[in-house]
Amino acid sequence: MIDRQARDLPLDAHLHTNLSPDSDVPIDVFAEQALERGIGEIAITDHVDFEPGTPAYAATTFAQRERVVREAAERWGPRGVVIRFGVELTYDRRYEADLREHLHHHAYDFVIGSVHVYRTSPYAGERVAAFVAGRSLPEIVAPYFDEVEAAARSGLFDAIGHLDFVKRYVHPHVTPAAFAAAPELYEPILRALVDSGTALEVNTSGLRQVADETYPSAAVVARFRELGGERVTVGSDAHRATSFAWGLADGYDHVRAAGFNALTIGHTDHTERIGLDAEPNAVGPRSL
Ligand SMILES: [Zn+2]
Ligand SMILES: [Zn+2]
Repeated sequence: MIDRQARDLPLDAHLHTNLSPDSDVPIDVFAEQALERGIGEIAITDHVDFEPGTPAYAATTFAQRERVVREAAERWGPRGVVIRFGVELTYDRRYEADLREHLHHHAYDFVIGSVHVYRTSPYAGERVAAFVAGRSLPEIVAPYFDEVEAAARSGLFDAIGHLDFVKRYVHPHVTPAAFAAAPELYEPILRALVDSGTALEVNTSGLRQVADETYPSAAVVARFRELGGERVTVGSDAHRATSFAWGLADGYDHVRAAGFNALTIGHTDHTERIGLDAEPNAVGPRSL
C-alpha cells in the first residue's frame, strides 16, 4: 500500500491536537512526524466554536492553546520544524460579531474560517436524506455554500477551510461528480475569496473520506486561479497521528497544476510566501 503521508514538503497548514475535542494527538507527535518526514513547517489550528452547545464551545482558553503551541514552537524550532499558532474558527453568520471581537483581542499567526455541520444542520445525520429529497443541487448546497460565501466576504479569515466539505454529508445522495458538473455553484464563493484577498485552502482530508477528492477539487482550484486568486494553502486537517500530512502531495499537485508557485501563510497584511519547491526543513527566509 502506498504511503499517503507526504514527505519533503514545506508546509502542512491544518492540524488538530488534543486541544480540539475531536483529536487525541499531542502536539509533539505532529512535530516529531514533521521532523521525520521533512515537513518544514506546520500550523496548529485547533477548533474554536462560538455557538453554545457545539463541540469546541469554551472547550479551551486562548491562553492555554497559545502556551502549548508557543512552547512547542520553542522546543522544535531549533530542530528545524517551524510551528505556527493558528486556529480554525467555525463561521456562522449569527456569530460574526463574536468572531470579530475574538480576533480583535487575540493574535494568531494564521486564522482559518470554516463552515461545519452540527446537529441542527439540515445535513446532519438522518436528516440529510429528507433534506435532499425533491430538491435541486443548487437548493441542496445553498445552506452550506451561502454560509461559505459569507465567510469569504467577511474578510475575517486568512483562509477558508474545506470550502465544499458538504460533499461529505450529502454523499451518496449527491456525488462529487454532480458537484463537478455544476462549477457555476462555486463562482460566488471564489469571487468572494478574490475580492477579499482570502486564501483558498486545499484540504486533503476529503481523500480519506467518502468524497475521495480534496475540498475543493483540482478543477475548482484552477478556476480560482483563473479568476485572479492569489493566495492558496494546503492542509491535511489531521485529527489522528496517522493522518499527518496525509494526501498532502495531491494537494500540492493541484496547486501547481493551477499555476501557483507559492503557498501563503499568515495574515493578509502580513503574508509569507512559501515556494512550493522550497527546501524542506530550511530554517530562515525561504525563496520562491
Ligand atoms: Zn473544519
Ligand atoms: Zn480542521
